[in-house]
Amino acid sequence: MRMQTDLADTPLLVTTSWDDGHPSDLRVADLLEKHGIRGTFYVPCTNSEGRPVMRSAEIIQLARRNEIGGHTRDHVILTTIAPEMAEAQIRANKQRLEDLLGHGVHGFAYVRGHHNRTVRDLVKKAGFKYARTVKNLMSTPGGDRFAVATTAQFFPHRGVTYLRNYASGRPTLQRSRILRAVLGHAEFSARLSGSAEACRHSGGHFHLWGHSWELDEHDLWEELERFLVRLTQLHAKFVTNDEWCASA
Ligand SMILES: [Zn+2]
Repeated sequence: MRMQTDLADTPLLVTTSWDDGHPSDLRVADLLEKHGIRGTFYVPCTNSEGRPVMRSAEIIQLARRNEIGGHTRDHVILTTIAPEMAEAQIRANKQRLEDLLGHGVHGFAYVRGHHNRTVRDLVKKAGFKYARTVKNLMSTPGGDRFAVATTAQFFPHRGVTYLRNYASGRPTLQRSRILRAVLGHAEFSARLSGSAEACRHSGGHFHLWGHSWELDEHDLWEELERFLVRLTQLHAKFVTNDEWCASA
């Protein structure tokens, strides 16, 4: 009992980010609003993989409460195309979002998390202040604002996927603690709760990211709401990715 009180007194900063600008992002935004949370949405202009993207009015509606960030013009992996094409993808998307919203767009998410030095420099040069990757199992944004890490994807991955993500990023004691917390449970929601608890003990930051179209495809909406409630019970402070980067 005493331990629970101690835990509740330890602050946990939580941010959630949602990629791809799918129309179901509006449903995520409704869910976040219901629980008093603002989120971050990374929105391309179109999706070369064929998934629909929100219309202009919907993006404007989303931006009333949430942060909107860039995610390339056509949702393309920037490390696979020529630098000048990558630059055009980054800049055209930023310009369009800024014209639409009437204010600066500070954040960017690399498509599928793929980035290299050239791509990072192009994102920086375009005027973004930070860029998010898909590196998981971190309890801080990390030291590089153009390689911002996350904690977990809202997707019921198999244990081996977490292991692979752990191995592909830089293994650290902090990351191994979160990995242990995740793999210590078999069930998805218990894994997420375990990782949030681990973040509170070490690092103090929890970053959940996902795709609303995956919530549709895998029927994860109720699961998401249950987890958001769980986070609010942990007395978390919710911020956007932009605020999150500025705080750490
Ligand atoms: Zn994406």
